[in-house]
Amino acid sequence: MRRRSETLLPGILERYNLAMNRFVLLCVACAVASFGQSRKALVGGTLIDGYGGPPIRNSVILIEGEKIQAVGQIGSLPIPPGAEVISTEGMSILPGLWDMHVHTMLSGHSDYAHWDKTYPPQLESVIMPATAKQLLMAGVTSARDLGAPLEASIHVRDAIKSGKIPGATLYVSGPFLQHEPYPGTEYFRWGVKDPADGRAKVDKLADAGVDCIKLIDQDEMTMEEIRAIVDEAHKRKLMVVAHAHRPNEIRFGLEAGVDDFEHTGLATAPEYPADIVEKLHARTARGNIAPLWWTPTVQVLYNYDYIRDHPELVDDPRWHEGLPPAIISDIRESLRHIDQLEYFRMVPPRKPTLKHKFQQLRESGAMLLIGTDSGVPTQFHTQTTWNELDIWVHAMGVDPMDAIRAATFWPSVAMKVDKEVGTVTPGKYADIIAVRGDVLRYIDLLQNVDFVMKHGTRYK
Ligand SMILES: [Zn+2]
Repeated sequence: MRRRSETLLPGILERYNLAMNRFVLLCVACAVASFGQSRKALVGGTLIDGYGGPPIRNSVILIEGEKIQAVGQIGSLPIPPGAEVISTEGMSILPGLWDMHVHTMLSGHSDYAHWDKTYPPQLESVIMPATAKQLLMAGVTSARDLGAPLEASIHVRDAIKSGKIPGATLYVSGPFLQHEPYPGTEYFRWGVKDPADGRAKVDKLADAGVDCIKLIDQDEMTMEEIRAIVDEAHKRKLMVVAHAHRPNEIRFGLEAGVDDFEHTGLATAPEYPADIVEKLHARTARGNIAPLWWTPTVQVLYNYDYIRDHPELVDDPRWHEGLPPAIISDIRESLRHIDQLEYFRMVPPRKPTLKHKFQQLRESGAMLLIGTDSGVPTQFHTQTTWNELDIWVHAMGVDPMDAIRAATFWPSVAMKVDKEVGTVTPGKYADIIAVRGDVLRYIDLLQNVDFVMKHGTRYK
């Protein structure tokens, strides 16, 4: 064998060298071509960069590969030759939106018991990739996915990160940590037996590579268990995101040092009780390094009666994208009688309390973030994020610029990735959306985002 190889070698080498030369030439050609393609210039639109200052008119954003290279204005920032020029004339340009509370494993179906037992085999392969892409196409370039099976969460997040599949950049918690999982949900809810078990579960999640810890029903846990979970999570540099449905969830969570509360909570109670307000003030007073975050998820409650009476959104085919016909019809069938869903039974009496509670949270000094609970009954990933922005601006009285920053800049700070995303800044990833018209005057324009770019790749 060896001898034969030796005699063959010179001929092979010669051909190999020839092939290599051609290959190198080809690579140079490819590099030149992709260099040209990877340089983009967004030219002409009004830029809301995410920092809260006045918008930049006639903006120019230069993008090189995945990153933003320069930001300026027509006339002062030259467009390099060979760059692909994309006109944004007449448009508002924003950092890609964040949604800080999504459920990619759900897609609006009204019956959790049915969903949880029917679709586990399709979560990782079909449903989560579909919903993550729906978020992206709605202008949500980053989303925090709170509560899903561990392996599927990591795999889908990483497939998106590596560019294998399109989707919003996901920050995942994996399974919920709680006192005891509801029967049949053990694959995405982990029970905690005692403080040592709490630490072990956090370590298991951290070792698997989650981005945060999701704690719920903590009022059913002992303080020692909650403290162990929060302490271990912080040791592993993970924030703890906890439910705020009941007063003791908030009280215990605050005492243990939870970083971020979810939902407006407290059912039909008209307001947060005085002792909680006092504790919030005390907590936010020492929060200049790590603010207290709060994701109130108000639109799911505020819009219920509207959706019940105007169910056309169930007919909107945008939420079908990536889902097989059988799943689409199963979801549609489950939403035939939105008025009869037990899930929303207590929502109408809660609605009048929402604005006051929202104001109490704002006045407490907590940093409020845009998040939506997308995926829960009637809540499609294609529309919840702009709905939340709409309710903040039109029902809660939030200034549109503040609402946009709660969906761009602040989430990136909360997730400690503000050096990479969250604003339109040179050196950061080119996660950019654009919409025709003045979004600071008409926030609802965000229901039809015209342009979506993530990491320099244009998806819309
Ligand atoms: Zn949720």
